[in-house]
Amino acid sequence: KDSSDLFGSLFEAPPLVRVVPVLVPLPVPGAYSYAVPEGMHVEPGSVVQVPVGPRQLIGVVWDGENADTAPPGLDPKKLRPITLAFDCPPLSKEMRDFVDWVAAYTLSPPGLVARMAIRAPAALGPEPMVEGLRYLGGQPERLTPARTRVLELAGGEDIPWTRSGLAHAAGVSLSVIDGLTAQGMFETIFLPPPPVVAKPEPDYTAPRIEGVQKETAEEIVGSIRAGGFSAALIDGVTGSGKTEVYFEAIAETLRRGKQVLILLPEIALTTSFLERFEDRFGAKPGEWHSDLSPRMREKVWRGVVTGEVRVVAGARSALFLPFEELGLIIVDEEHDPAYKQEDRVFYNARDMAVVRARIGDFPIVLVSATPSVESQVNGLSGRYNTVHLPTRFGDAALPDLHLIDMRRHPPERGGFLSPVLIRAIAKTIEKGEQALLFLNRRGYAPLTLCRVCGHRFQCPQCSSWLVEHRFRNQIQCHQCGYAEPTPEACPECGTLDHLVACGPGVERIAEEVEKHFPDARTIVMSSDLLGSVKRMRLELEAIARGEADIVIGTQLVAKGHNFPLMTLVGIVDSDLGLSNGDPRAAERTFQLLSQVTGRAGRTGLKSHGLLQTFQPQHPVMQAIVSGDAGAFYEREISERERALLPPFGRLASLIVSADTRADAENHARGLRAAAPKVTGISVLGPAEAPLALVRGRHRFRLLVHGRRNSDMQGFLKAMLAHGPKQRGSVQIQLDIDPQSF
Ligand code: ADP
Ligand code: ZN
Repeated sequence: KDSSDLFGSLFEAPPLVRVVPVLVPLPVPGAYSYAVPEGMHVEPGSVVQVPVGPRQLIGVVWDGENADTAPPGLDPKKLRPITLAFDCPPLSKEMRDFVDWVAAYTLSPPGLVARMAIRAPAALGPEPMVEGLRYLGGQPERLTPARTRVLELAGGEDIPWTRSGLAHAAGVSLSVIDGLTAQGMFETIFLPPPPVVAKPEPDYTAPRIEGVQKETAEEIVGSIRAGGFSAALIDGVTGSGKTEVYFEAIAETLRRGKQVLILLPEIALTTSFLERFEDRFGAKPGEWHSDLSPRMREKVWRGVVTGEVRVVAGARSALFLPFEELGLIIVDEEHDPAYKQEDRVFYNARDMAVVRARIGDFPIVLVSATPSVESQVNGLSGRYNTVHLPTRFGDAALPDLHLIDMRRHPPERGGFLSPVLIRAIAKTIEKGEQALLFLNRRGYAPLTLCRVCGHRFQCPQCSSWLVEHRFRNQIQCHQCGYAEPTPEACPECGTLDHLVACGPGVERIAEEVEKHFPDARTIVMSSDLLGSVKRMRLELEAIARGEADIVIGTQLVAKGHNFPLMTLVGIVDSDLGLSNGDPRAAERTFQLLSQVTGRAGRTGLKSHGLLQTFQPQHPVMQAIVSGDAGAFYEREISERERALLPPFGRLASLIVSADTRADAENHARGLRAAAPKVTGISVLGPAEAPLALVRGRHRFRLLVHGRRNSDMQGFLKAMLAHGPKQRGSVQIQLDIDPQSF
């Protein structure tokens, strides 16, 4: 026996201090160590509050990767203790592995990734209980008619009442209730808070699927029954019934007692989706997006971790919700650029959703009318099971699409709409139907200059032109939000009233429409004009009810909406996205144009799409009008393959920014010089970033290109480690799989 056993009772041994690593929401490489106070229970995944310097921050107790940063030989007694442990279930092992994976893949600080999973409890106190009353019986000293009514009600039903609920039901004042409680007729109890959303029932209504939909749904449900990870891609034209098909995958998952996550790019605007879901399942899904109130966020978050919320429909950030038992992810409009987050942690929620499903060993379903090249390639290689829905459901038909060659049918002087398009609008509104004019440009004109001296209005802190917003009488920077009143005189030559607007924005198109159709009801749908999400929702509902003849809109109107009376879609500038030199430009333009024209003809009415273009021979335009997406994608895929561009090669972009141009450029050059020599990986640049100046910061970009199986992360880590020390105002943004390159 060793001596400590003998003398343990004689000498007071110091209490053992337990030390745990905690990921804090800061851009640091790993966890910090904290002491666990006696009596506090924490385990890996526990959400805790810890002191960091003078602040208190919310973090997560960690284990495994990213956890061991406590220096060896550290004296635990010197560590600061955890302040408090939140009363919520710990993040699961699956969730912790996912956070570690995303941090390693995106080369982001793990604490910033973990932060996305625990954003809501930052505001969480203990869940507030509702104060309720239980009827105990007995007789009050004095019986008034009001008291009689209360006691009859309370005695008649053996349910707990809330104080105000009972007063309201009995038609008495609160003081009557309080008087009875004081005399012992009621006792105060605590009721659990009401659920956030009711439980969706998989068999609330019968499935609405037939023909090819049914086969498709059965195939997907089959792989859900088989269990484990699987990935399916539903490739079906707009209105083909893809939603109805994936509803069956959701129903099957609910039957198996698992939770479901539906990712949607514009969830805040798609109230009609929530209603459709409710029609099928008898309850709405929980919503998750940036427009929720903090209180609601908290409730949904708690419902998700405890398992009370069974289905969440959310924006990309919902991917980091710590579900109790997630069993299926749907990514609707999987090609949508809105899935890419380009802030702090740069990630593509579509790609990370596949990773989450793989780690959790459950199925994922990607959905699109125009799947991304990446997903198509995964379909071709057999990694995804692609299913097709080639036609619209029922008697709805896709719109007839025609190009308007703007060289042959030019608009009137000063206008932007071809006479062909104007005639089509006239015909449409004569029939009492709706026309949509799409232009993805806010404001009045993208460029304003002085007719006399040629002065252009540029943002003082960005390398971008100021855009005139005539409805608000402002010129604005679309990069940083800088705005000033539209000047009356040119700041350079002083000439009055000589400003000319170059090119169209939606406001200018609205002016032109007004001139041609003064009696039509016109709505301009542009985020800056509508302000709040609520306003946007109301306007979209008004359009769906037929309360507008002509809608002029940016991409706000492109996604997911169902406007029954919309029979004409006119694209003001089909070439707009093509000329920016980005290899994804053709794909993006094809997707956007398909989606916007897909707003027309959702009911049985005959519908048209007219696309104004100066490049009618362009493969995108040809693919759109011929309806042959296959040939277009085949070409895109083979071009990417030849150039070893994603998904046949890998890319990363590093943007180095600083307060001075020289600092940014020098640092970028230093990084380039520090790049290790690795076959199959090369560095391009540095060159001025596509936006060379943003908010006063100068930006240089390095592009790293690697072969498909190259260790991009290892390469970048080595480059950053051997590169110049980051000092002064220098910042580096690292984007793995950038959207544009
Ligand atoms: P997508 O998601 O492909 O755009 P939707 O699922 O929204 O298509 O379906 C388009 C329209 O057809 C919707 O109004 C939907 O309610 C209807 N629909 C789809 N499938 C059926 C079905 N099997 N029975 C009845 N209506 C259906
Ligand atoms: Zn600016």
